[in-house]
Amino acid sequence: MSLALTGAFHGNERVGLRAEEGVIVEFGRGVQPRPEDETIDAAGAILVPPLLNGHTHAAMTLFRGYGDDLPLMRWLEEKVWPIERQLEPEDVYWGTRLACLEMIRNGTGRFWDMYWHPEAAARAVRDAGLRATVAAPLIDVDGRTEAMREAARRSLDELSESGDRVDAGLAPHAIYTVTESSLRWIADLAAEKGITVQIHLSETEQEVIDCVNANGARPAHYLDRVGLLNPRTVLAHGVWLDESELELIAARGAVIVTNPVANLKLAVGRVFPYVRARAAGIQVGLGTDGPGSNNSLDLFADMKVFALLQKHEARDSAAVTAEETLEIATGRRAPLLGAAPGLEVGQPADFLLLRADAPELSFGELAAALVYAASGGVVQATVVAGQVLMRDGEIEGAEDVLARAFERGHRLGLAPPVYSAYAHAEHA
Ligand SMILES: [Zn+2]
Repeated sequence: MSLALTGAFHGNERVGLRAEEGVIVEFGRGVQPRPEDETIDAAGAILVPPLLNGHTHAAMTLFRGYGDDLPLMRWLEEKVWPIERQLEPEDVYWGTRLACLEMIRNGTGRFWDMYWHPEAAARAVRDAGLRATVAAPLIDVDGRTEAMREAARRSLDELSESGDRVDAGLAPHAIYTVTESSLRWIADLAAEKGITVQIHLSETEQEVIDCVNANGARPAHYLDRVGLLNPRTVLAHGVWLDESELELIAARGAVIVTNPVANLKLAVGRVFPYVRARAAGIQVGLGTDGPGSNNSLDLFADMKVFALLQKHEARDSAAVTAEETLEIATGRRAPLLGAAPGLEVGQPADFLLLRADAPELSFGELAAALVYAASGGVVQATVVAGQVLMRDGEIEGAEDVLARAFERGHRLGLAPPVYSAYAHAEHA
């Protein structure tokens, strides 16, 4: 499989790119297609790396708009958990396909997922053509420790068959939903397999208070004590971390993924201390969190909110630049998240083409336009591993994904709004 792209703007140049077997083999001026290549005429388009969503629960697209504007615990207890107990693998598969559809359209090439039936999520990622690190949420404070450990082992076996675009990980849900002995067990298993661990950490003030009361230490110190703070750890949120925890996380080489939109929507009461995390030397990524609690998977929105919130918090409009925000949102400030270092020969052929004629991109520096003005609507083509997932705004099979996701949602009692084409569709 080979792909050739010609005429794209990259910096101040017009460039071409050829990819073979998913890897860039030629890049720069004067690149010409070969007869066997699939071709893209990129005249009038801007070539950039794809975005990377560092934390989500993709299949929760099915829950979008269901029980919004409730306090967190009521939303979980009355809305989400009762339906999650009925989830079948096919629900997760089509919910994840729906999420992938949205991410492809909005220029996300890779994401980190934590959700039930991870083998179904991994199949959806593979079929959609994206890249992801996929992990089952692990919870055992309900006393089901053996069942949880068995599920963790089984998920790693099943995910090992998921192809080269899917990495398997482990995802203890949080320090307050997993017992200390299981956190230690997960740390040992991850070390033995050399795989990543993603966990929600220090999202709310209550979590910090409870952790100090139960363990005599703040969340990051406790996580370190159980062996889970290391260069393979991805921490989602980190909102309530203090200075000593930031220094510890930097020393251990773990990554923090900030989710500013979800934090605001769930009213966690504080802003992730990014400027202090940066000063400590912590690697940082950007995430949407799940579509049930964001509710969008369009990282362009999260980039803007991230930058504005940090400027506001610092009372300094220069606290975070657009270029820096873009580096964070493409994963270049946190190598563990798995983004390619750049568009160059020998690297994966993962890239976006943006519409140069989009009004939002018509003046000024590109980074500023992308962070402060654009939405995912400026993305014209999304390419992963040399495979064209969206061309001229069209994604093959999109209607089928929408129809099947609706069928699954209907089965769970989650109806689309009346104006949706699928609200009146025939179904069994
Ligand atoms: Zn989350």
